Amino acid sequence: MESTDRVTLRWSELFHSLQGEGPSAGTPAHFLRLQGCDVGCRWCDTKYTWSPDGGTAGTYEDARARLHALGAAPLIVITGGEPLTHPGIASLVERALADWERVEIETSGVVPPPVRHERLYYNHSPKLPSVTDRSADTWRHAAAFAADPNTTFKIVVGDDPDTGDMLRLVRTHDLPRNRIMLMPEGLTDAALHERAVALAELCKREGLRLSPRLHVWLWGARRGV
Ligand code: SF4
Repeated sequence: MESTDRVTLRWSELFHSLQGEGPSAGTPAHFLRLQGCDVGCRWCDTKYTWSPDGGTAGTYEDARARLHALGAAPLIVITGGEPLTHPGIASLVERALADWERVEIETSGVVPPPVRHERLYYNHSPKLPSVTDRSADTWRHAAAFAADPNTTFKIVVGDDPDTGDMLRLVRTHDLPRNRIMLMPEGLTDAALHERAVALAELCKREGLRLSPRLHVWLWGARRGV
């Protein structure tokens, strides 16, 4: 396996916060936001990560030291951008597993899960057709993610036709309903609340879970939180 000693990471942000979304929402966490993504979601709130050449270059040890200097956390969230397309991601994950109790990866799923481990969790967020022309690519490896019980499917749902598309794709890919979390699209409290209320009814009816966006609720839509 390629050593991260020789791999240069490129990150856009390193910060200490609470995990805002998904199954461990509310947990103190270090965030390592890697550069590079070509999925092109229309509502992407981290477009500054899209260029693989942007951000700051450094080693794994640089990133770890900077994160630990910010405070303590049992969890590291490796996010992006699209972290699974970052060079050396498998080595990075192996190193992170040695340094944190729990490692979570936020991914669109355009490539299959590279590593499996009892303390490694994937938050796979496949995109609906209204979001990007690459929607099908983000569902392509859903079976591989579903085979790992540590994967949660976190699906962002906005206006129609998103609800119908989501239900169709969940059935087509036979995703385990107890590991699906729906998350409202939106970057303001008002938009999130309105959609969350509608999604709550959908979750009750379909046996799905609802994910918060705690960081937007607590601090608004800004970087580094
Ligand atoms: S996959 Fe994530 S980082 Fe990439 S465009 Fe979509 S929302 Fe943005």
